[in-house]
Amino acid sequence: MIPDHKRFLPGSPPSPYGIPLDIKRDGAWGRGFLTDDVTLRAVGWLGDRVDCIGDVSDSCIDRLFVAYERSLKVSGEYRGFHACEVCSGELQHNPGGHVGPIVVWKERELSLIGDGHYLIRFERTVYMAPDLLSHYILDHQYRPPDEFEKAVIEGRFLTADDLVFRPSMLPPLSYSTCTRLILPKGDG
Ligand SMILES: [Zn+2]
Repeated sequence: MIPDHKRFLPGSPPSPYGIPLDIKRDGAWGRGFLTDDVTLRAVGWLGDRVDCIGDVSDSCIDRLFVAYERSLKVSGEYRGFHACEVCSGELQHNPGGHVGPIVVWKERELSLIGDGHYLIRFERTVYMAPDLLSHYILDHQYRPPDEFEKAVIEGRFLTADDLVFRPSMLPPLSYSTCTRLILPKGDG
């Protein structure tokens, strides 16, 4: 769990795990950073309980749906799929064999896999939120802070292309692990 409003130190990687955010650009691996003029804040990293319950505006939920449908998020680091810790049963975790919850709202449906997170810029703040956020809001009645709701509606969802790219000499852990797994013997 990361408390809502948590403010990260300048230069922190835009990753909830405190590790570099590995991204690829023009075929090369590197690390993604925010520009120096913004502050990174966390919202919606609930852990296993919901501390703030309430209504969220339709326009905010609509924006989250659109952002998910268009993959307006980042998922550079591979830590496995993040499951909702508030849900108690496997049926909720894996409805119908899906990985992750299925969220239904106004005849729209999202199948969330818990991979990656949102980075939403509004003025001089970038809010970092999990991609399970619409599930937290609609299925667990989580209410994010007012300022975050405003940012979702009026701000801009960043992708890896919006980040400052710094080349890295080392491939990310997930990449090297996968490469080792798929390379034929004696080829590495
Ligand atoms: Zn849940």
